[in-house]
Amino acid sequence: MVTKDLQTRLEEINKRIDDATRRSGRKDKVKLLPVSKGQSPEKIKYFQRQGFTIFGESRVQELREKDEKLDGVEWHFIGHLQRNKVKYLMRMENCTLIHSLDSWRLARTIDKRARKNNRKIPVLVQVNVARDPNKFGIEPSEVKDFVYEVSKLENIRVEGLMTIVPYSENPEEARPYFKQMNNLKNMLCDKGFNVKELSMGMSNDFEVAIEEGATIIRIGTKLFGERVYN
Ligand SMILES: *Cc1c(COP(=O)(O)O)cnc(C)c1O
Repeated sequence: MVTKDLQTRLEEINKRIDDATRRSGRKDKVKLLPVSKGQSPEKIKYFQRQGFTIFGESRVQELREKDEKLDGVEWHFIGHLQRNKVKYLMRMENCTLIHSLDSWRLARTIDKRARKNNRKIPVLVQVNVARDPNKFGIEPSEVKDFVYEVSKLENIRVEGLMTIVPYSENPEEARPYFKQMNNLKNMLCDKGFNVKELSMGMSNDFEVAIEEGATIIRIGTKLFGERVYN
């Protein structure tokens, strides 16, 4: 029964991604990151059987617990990362991208821990594009200087930008923010930074995000169903 639900959801999401991609005239393929926070390992296994290898988690503890229970998973960290938890992620070779670099102090900690583990970790810079006081992220006007400073760190590689926009019933309200993110990405490319990824769009607004240039969309509930926390 559960499997049927998941299959139906996955088919619907895939169709909507294809439609939005076609509408926007894009030739590249948008990557779907299933966000597994608050979801059971069994559901993750279902998506593994469908060919997904990478999952998004937003809490270090939860990510580590799930990692114990699953084989062959690669993790993207998408939540606010506390500096004292960085060491756990950097020890995990299968944690391959941090979407949520949101401060200079965090950048320095990640760089230090990555060096200890002999790796160069790809990150995305989280931008508070809506300038929401309750959200983490770099102010849009400071993104260029921030990326410039972080690019000097030897064990971090900035591969793109990420944002979480305010929830709204109407996904069109997110469009100006997504547009602004795409402009920021293009501006950085013009300045010579190799930022390829634009991680934006969630269950509620992923189609608009695709139309505005998202390369990674992060989908939780529309794919897995409601989250359960115990
Ligand atoms: C939870 C979460 C998502 C997924 O949210 P849904 O609305 O369930 O799709 C995406 N991105 C981040 C950063 C999240 O924390």
